Amino acid sequence: MDKSGFTTTILHSDRRDDVEHGAVHKPIHVSSEYGYADARELAAVFQGKAGYTYARQGTPTTAALESRVTKMEKGVASVSFATGMAALAAVFTTLLRAGDHLVSSQFIFGNTNSLFGTLVELGVEITFVDATDAEQVKAALRPNTRMVFVETIANPGTQVADLVAIGTLCRERGLVYLLDNTLTSPWMLRGMDVQASLVMNSLSKYIGGHGNALGGTITDTGLFDWSGYPNIFESYRKGPPTGWGLLQIKKKGLRDMGGTLAADAAHRIAVGSETLALRMRKHCDNALALARMLEAHPGVAKVFYPGLPSHPQHARAAELFDGCFGALMGVELVDGIDCFEFLNRLRVVILATHLGDTRTLALPAAHTIYYEMGAQRRAQMGIADSFIRVSVGIEDEEDLLGDFDQALRACMNT
Ligand SMILES: *Cc1c(COP(=O)(O)O)cnc(C)c1O
Repeated sequence: MDKSGFTTTILHSDRRDDVEHGAVHKPIHVSSEYGYADARELAAVFQGKAGYTYARQGTPTTAALESRVTKMEKGVASVSFATGMAALAAVFTTLLRAGDHLVSSQFIFGNTNSLFGTLVELGVEITFVDATDAEQVKAALRPNTRMVFVETIANPGTQVADLVAIGTLCRERGLVYLLDNTLTSPWMLRGMDVQASLVMNSLSKYIGGHGNALGGTITDTGLFDWSGYPNIFESYRKGPPTGWGLLQIKKKGLRDMGGTLAADAAHRIAVGSETLALRMRKHCDNALALARMLEAHPGVAKVFYPGLPSHPQHARAAELFDGCFGALMGVELVDGIDCFEFLNRLRVVILATHLGDTRTLALPAAHTIYYEMGAQRRAQMGIADSFIRVSVGIEDEEDLLGDFDQALRACMNT
């Protein structure tokens, strides 16, 4: 993947897009409504001309952030939402209808899994497959299949989907390929490069990066031809068909459902995004060092991390992610060490849910974020009761490795 100019582009994005008084940051626009001197101009904006009307449909501040994410993804356009889940919910509820079929990876974020329960109640058929193998996706396709959904690296099991082959399959069959790029971020993978139609990034994670703002985006890569897609309302069949899908997601997801990103959160995320490349490198380096240390540790039974040769999709991850393997890992301790005892002995690591923060966070996944889904679904996702999810931060490496080591040793000595 060509990363030349990645950071320079982000740093100068606001200024080059639309300078306001020479400001290098897009200002935080707090206006709810936007006034016009000419009523005809107001009407024109309602009828599709670029501009702002009511902040539920976005502000110049959210638009500037959308522009940054579009540049990171090298896509055509993006729409921002209050959270990553709002972005995902907007896509599924606006592009799928009762009777449509969705094929999803069985290795997915718990809240997405829960959202799928709601979709099923609304009449959408969903088949879960092991998406590390594109053949399984292919075998699940039906005449009414509209969309395929996968996470690049799955939260929390770290399975790496067969992203390239699934992209080719979706292109051949004319299916919407929705990629959740949250764990990789556009610095490790661009949806484009695996022929995704739409890319979701939770901005709350690496892109914002500092645990101080929530947000999400949907980016249109421009690869999908919406002219043959049956679920686009007549009023959104305007202009080139590559834009229809995102227009409907924006109108329905923002205007009608109101999952809008606030301007001050957009600002904080935009500032965070400036150091994405720097942070991501350190996140990945720390994670690889920690994974190697833990895999060799007598207190640890198993480490799930795509950067380790023992990971089933290590070779694929090495090829796709350009030598970086992300910063999320799963750890299972040896029998006899209680995962709660271990976690309680950590001093640097914070016991908290969330990932992609600058600080290292850990939690017992089966007992917390994956508690509600039940044992059967957890087993399908490869999450044992003792599975500890670790989101590796950017602390000094020796402090981080030292913290895990001291906690493990204390447990082994008792
Ligand atoms: C966190 C996360 C989401 C949801 O993002 P929010 O911004 O927290 O709503 C979706 N997918 C994955 C893989 C995530 O890790």
